[in-house]
Formats: sequence, C-alpha cells, structure tokens
Amino acid sequence: MQPARAKETAWDPGDLVRDKWPGAVTSVIAGRRQPPGELELLPVVDPSSGATLVEVADADEAIVDQAVAAASAAFRSTWGRAEPAARGRALMSVAGALRDASEELARIETLDSGKPLSQARGDVATAARYFEFYAGMCDKLYGETIPQTSGLAYTVREPHGVVGVVTPWNSPLAQMCRSVAPALAAGNTVVVKPSELTPLTSTLAAMLFVAAGLPSGVCNVVPGRGPTAGDALCRHPSVKYVSFTGSVGTGRAVAAICADRVIPCSLELGGKSATIILPDADLAAAAEAGVSAVVRNAGQSCFATTRLVTHRAVHDELVARMVDLFDTLTIGPGIDDPALGPLISAAQANRARGYVERAIRDGASAANAARHDLPEAGFYVAPSLLVGVTNDMEVARDEVFGPVQSVIAVDDEEEAIEVANASAYGLAAGIFTSSLSAAHRHAARLEAGQVQINRYPLGGVDTPFGGYKQSGIGREKGLEALRHYSQIKTVILHLDGPNAR
Ligand code: NAD
Repeated sequence: MQPARAKETAWDPGDLVRDKWPGAVTSVIAGRRQPPGELELLPVVDPSSGATLVEVADADEAIVDQAVAAASAAFRSTWGRAEPAARGRALMSVAGALRDASEELARIETLDSGKPLSQARGDVATAARYFEFYAGMCDKLYGETIPQTSGLAYTVREPHGVVGVVTPWNSPLAQMCRSVAPALAAGNTVVVKPSELTPLTSTLAAMLFVAAGLPSGVCNVVPGRGPTAGDALCRHPSVKYVSFTGSVGTGRAVAAICADRVIPCSLELGGKSATIILPDADLAAAAEAGVSAVVRNAGQSCFATTRLVTHRAVHDELVARMVDLFDTLTIGPGIDDPALGPLISAAQANRARGYVERAIRDGASAANAARHDLPEAGFYVAPSLLVGVTNDMEVARDEVFGPVQSVIAVDDEEEAIEVANASAYGLAAGIFTSSLSAAHRHAARLEAGQVQINRYPLGGVDTPFGGYKQSGIGREKGLEALRHYSQIKTVILHLDGPNAR
C-alpha cells in the first residue's frame, strides 16, 4: 500500500486553502466575502486524503436574496448599461486574470475535487478560453431586419437580467465559466451556486473577476446545499433565467420550478455516451478513447464514452489493446498528477464499486487483471474494463460516474446503431472508422447532441454542447449559447408614403 501524499510529504496542501480562507468559505457578493454569521458550516473534504480542508458556510435564503439584489443593481446600473465593446474588454481582463492565477487555481481545484493536477490545469485554461471566446462576441450580437409592406421590422437581442447558474462538482471552475462568460457577454449579471462539495475555485474566481475590473455585483457566488441555496436561487422572483448543470433528477426539480415561474432554463444533464468501433477503425485511437473515458476525472465526466459498441471482428484486438493501457494507469492523490485521482466522496466510490460487482454478477467479466495499489486514505476506485456487457444491463443503462468502461459486442451496422441509440441519454456519441461515408452515415443516425469522429473527446469552447433526450435542454458553448442567454425583441415600424420601403 502506498501512503497518500508519498511525493509531497514536506508540503501540506491544505495550507494553500487555509491561507486563502482563514475562516470558512463564504459567499462573495458585490466583490466582498460575506461573514459566516450564524450559517451552518459544512466540511469541504479533500477526496485524495479524506481530510477536511476547510468549512463552507451554507448560504440561506437571506444570503441568496442579497446576492440577487447585488446582481439586479449591477444589471440596472453598470453592466446592463455598458457599451458592448466595454463589456468585451472587461471579459478579456477576466480571462487574463484566470491565466495569471492559473497555477494556484489548478492546485486548489485539484485539492477540492481530487482531479489530477494536469487535468485541473486544463480546466483553468478552458475557463479562460470561455471568457476570451465570448469577449469577442459582446459587440456582435446583432438582430435581423424583416421587410414589411409599409415599413420594416427589426429584431434586437436583449439580456434576461439576473441569471442563476447552478453547477456540479466534477469541473467546478470550467462549468461556472462555461455559463457565466456567455451570460455576461449577452449583458446579463449572474449569481452562481456551486456544489457544496467543491466551492473553492468558484468563490475565488468571483474575487479575481472584481480585481480584474469586472464591476462589483456582476458575478456573485453563493456556495451552499442544493435544497437550500440552489432552491432559493431558482425560486427568486428577480432571477429571470436558470442555467443548470447536474443530474437528471435535480434537473427535473429545477425545470419544474422554472415551469411554475414561467422562466426559461437550460439543462446540462448526465450521459451514457456510446462509441461505435467499426471493423476498419484505427484501433490504437479507439483504445485511447476507451481509456480516456475512465482517466478523465476518474470517469466523473458527463460526456465520458462508457459504452464501446464494438464490431465482433475487432472486439478481441480492441480489448487486448485496452488491457495493456489499463495496466499502465497510475492512481494516487490528484496533486501528484497520476493518471487517475480519487472519486469525489466515499459514497460515489462505493456507488461505482457496486456497479462493477453487480455487472459481474449479471454476467460481465473484468478484462483488466493488473492490481492497482490504492492509497490507504481517500476515495480511490481501481479502473475496470468490463467485457461481455449487454445493453440491457444496469451498467450499460446508468451513468456510473466512475472509472468503469463497458465493451458491448455487435454483429453489424444496424445492431450498432440500435444499441447506441437505446439509451435514455443522448449527450455525445463517437465513431471510429476509416470510411468517410460510414462516418457520416452513422453520425446522421446517432441520437446525440455531439458526435466525435476518430478521436474522443474532441471540440472546445466554440463547439455547441448539450443533450438529446434526458441529457438536457439547450446548448452551452459556441455561438449557440448566446441565443439562450439573450431574448429577442421585435420592433415593427410603420412608414408613411408610397416609397416607404
Ligand atoms: P446534482 O444534480 O446532485 O447537483 C448539481 C447542482 O445542483 C449542485 O450544485 C447541487 O447542490 C444543486 N442542487 C441539488 N438539489 C437542488 C435543488 N433542489 N434545487 C437547486 N439546486 C439543487 O449533480 P452532481 O452530483 O453535483 O453532478 C453530477 C451530475 O452532473 C452527473 O449526472 C453529470 O453527468 C452531470 N453533469 C453534466 C454536465 C453537462 O454539461 N451535461 C457537466 C457536468 C456534470
């Protein structure tokens, strides 16, 4: 057994967090940290060691109300009235601030979420990219002109007002920025409710944004539990749009609140993404994709491709290649930058192990044999490569959110498409083939919001992302997100005279 922190014994990573938050982690409203007052304090646990890093004050309805009031005031005064180009410059400064603080943010993200340091560095770079991408769009949100028989009509894109952003724990900073950057670019102000499990980088970012020149009140953060802070935010009468990222169950509850209030929302929910591997595929690339699904955040990724729908002709070779790769995977504390870090909590680790046990009981078997030495403390789960999986098994139907890969053998194209589409989810899908025609034929028939061909994952901040079926409603990323964070006003004008047009 290797002890946790074997490589960094002289350095207590918790010091970085305690230096930043000498007391509890609290809400950031109008650029100021709020005192914890009488709020309940919840532990923020380092998944790599199981130790409590710091405590977070569970924001209540009154705190949420203050945050929404600050966002409303900023919408009415500074941000809502700013020249679009000035908003763009402010967003570009925010991107610069994220880049300047990238190493510190990455280390804190790693401690909070357990993800390997290089993956956290990638997340911070992505967070900065969102601001760079949308900074350039602030002054390009045009409407249309529509000819009329006696005049003309034109449309303008207007912001909603205060947007509530509710995020999960798997990539806290990147998910916050994915919604906040387009929301601000469209002229809204925001109140973010990060997961109570991972509140650190979101609250730190809110302070950085103000230091970078974003007017106070434009981006506020209220960490706390979902049923309290999250619910209060979605129900607040001054919140005019909700951007939710998380599980299907919570998404349903949030959508019900928004339906009741008759306000729009976007839902970025779970996935069980299939990748089809054809007989003419580059098997080295397909095997890499299969392994990357468990390596990336230890499988805790919504678009992880965790059903490898493999034509029988190449099944054995693909599995053999993946076994070799699985056996090389290192596991350890995120800060030591292994291939796989821990899962977010003991409950999540037990849940993932339960799926593997039941899959084997149901007739699947584990193809990878190497034993991984897991650190004694922390929430580690050894990766599993399951073969003999059928699409009706629980492990193929449910989102496991852990380092578990399933290979499903199929005989032909029809069966492959049928299996890939037989899922309640439709977030992403993959295809590996050397035939251009087969790639597009499959892409056209797959029920998924994004299709990745010959590498997985692909795409960036500029490629629209979101789900078919229960994977969600609406799209984040790319120009598509700006359509959600703005609403259309049509102005119709009557002009007198014979040559009015
Ligand atoms: P979750 O649904 O438990 O929580 C998500 C957020 O909702 C958290 O901030 C939580 O506190 C809050 N919340 C909980 N109850 C609430 C309520 N009643 N009202 C308002 N807010 C409430 O999800 P999770 O476990 O944090 O995250 C994992 C899930 O997120 C997975 O299903 C994953 O696929 C999904 N996810 C989706 C995407 C995507 O872009 N589609 C990205 C990342 C994660």
